[in-house]
Amino acid sequence: MSSADLVALVCCDLGAIVRGRSVLSAELGAHLDAGVGWVPANMSLTPRGPLADATPFHSVGDLRLLPDVDTHVRVEANSHGGALELVLCDIVETDGCPWDCCPRRFLREALEDLREELGACVVASFEHEFQLLEETPPAAPFSLAAQWRAEPFPSQVMDALIEAGAQPERYLAEFSAHQFEIPVDAAEGLAAADRAVVLREVVREIARRHGSRASFAPLVNPAEAGNGVHIHLNLRDEEGQPLLYDATRPASLSELGGRFAAGILRHAAALGALTAASPPSAVRLTPHRWSTGAVALGPANREALLRIPSPVTLGGGDPAGQLHLEYRAADATANPYLALGAILRAGLEGVRSELDPPPLLEVDPGRLDAAEAQRFGVGALPRSLEESLEALAGDEVVRGWMAPRLYEAYVGIKRAEIDAVAGLDIGETCRRYAAIY
Ligand code: GLU
Ligand code: MG
Repeated sequence: MSSADLVALVCCDLGAIVRGRSVLSAELGAHLDAGVGWVPANMSLTPRGPLADATPFHSVGDLRLLPDVDTHVRVEANSHGGALELVLCDIVETDGCPWDCCPRRFLREALEDLREELGACVVASFEHEFQLLEETPPAAPFSLAAQWRAEPFPSQVMDALIEAGAQPERYLAEFSAHQFEIPVDAAEGLAAADRAVVLREVVREIARRHGSRASFAPLVNPAEAGNGVHIHLNLRDEEGQPLLYDATRPASLSELGGRFAAGILRHAAALGALTAASPPSAVRLTPHRWSTGAVALGPANREALLRIPSPVTLGGGDPAGQLHLEYRAADATANPYLALGAILRAGLEGVRSELDPPPLLEVDPGRLDAAEAQRFGVGALPRSLEESLEALAGDEVVRGWMAPRLYEAYVGIKRAEIDAVAGLDIGETCRRYAAIY
């Protein structure tokens, strides 16, 4: 390690932009107890940079970015570039008290409530898609050629992710132009969201070192399928026993799992403001992009907001441990801590309210007649970020999970984003977001 190596102490902000300050790597130890300075108004920065006009924060205030050493990541230097080093931080007051707008805190509190009320631990993984923004004609979807033409990027990005502790499972070419997907191993709730932040930054940086740009924007080209972030969630009891599996019930989803799913579906419109968080997001969530064509629960159904991926019993796999829910309506413009925390809280609300497990959508929702389409929530997602914000404003339950200042800051940023693209066509909006994310 050269003495001038830097380690970045960072947080993921409300627009899912990673921001922070760096100290000398050699001096990280001296910053673990009190962190580095931070400013409340930073939480009202819009993804492109300017502060949102509507903000609860002004020129006054001091905070700290307090490193969580468990999240320390270092990817050693190689012939392509210097070392990458970062530590994810909680945002705290200068006396160490939690700050009410810290996204990691938002998720931590949701996880605590799940533990207290259901005795449940969350195991999750964020499955990311992204595109390399290349001028060259793309190879065929899912093809070996698409992957090999991108070498050495795929191998090097997997190396870097392993080194960063992100535990990548697979690398695959996806459907759209130069689109790839990297599923990662599941981890405990907070660690899963941390891993999502790390994965995006590492993928972007390794692509940059190869003279390319990796974009996680929800939609790069409105004529193609978009880049999803599918959030896989499982619940276990404190002994590690699965809580979502019951072989005697439809789709082997336990009663608790059904109620949990029903809570997520009930609050889906408002959740969209937090999980599909930018102006192009809603366009990705239109039918036949295999993102979310219906606000429904569907076994193995890639057009359902909540999919139950088929457990694999081949090779002796145990279905009980595998059975889980996949929330498909998120993308990388969403803060992973807010997204996962809100989804979990919606599920918990479904259990608390003893909601009936939803009916199972076992066909392409595009093939349903009008009555069935209505029953399975076809077309029920908000059609724009504006509509999602209205749904959030109207859903007192979801809004109530956010500290008042967090809500105000969040909505301020989102309104600024809507204003910044007002009057642009969707192609130009997508181009702008591809340049940011
Ligand atoms: N690209 C799709 C999306 O936007 C997902 C395709 C798939 O992996 O099923 O969510
Ligand atoms: Mg995919």
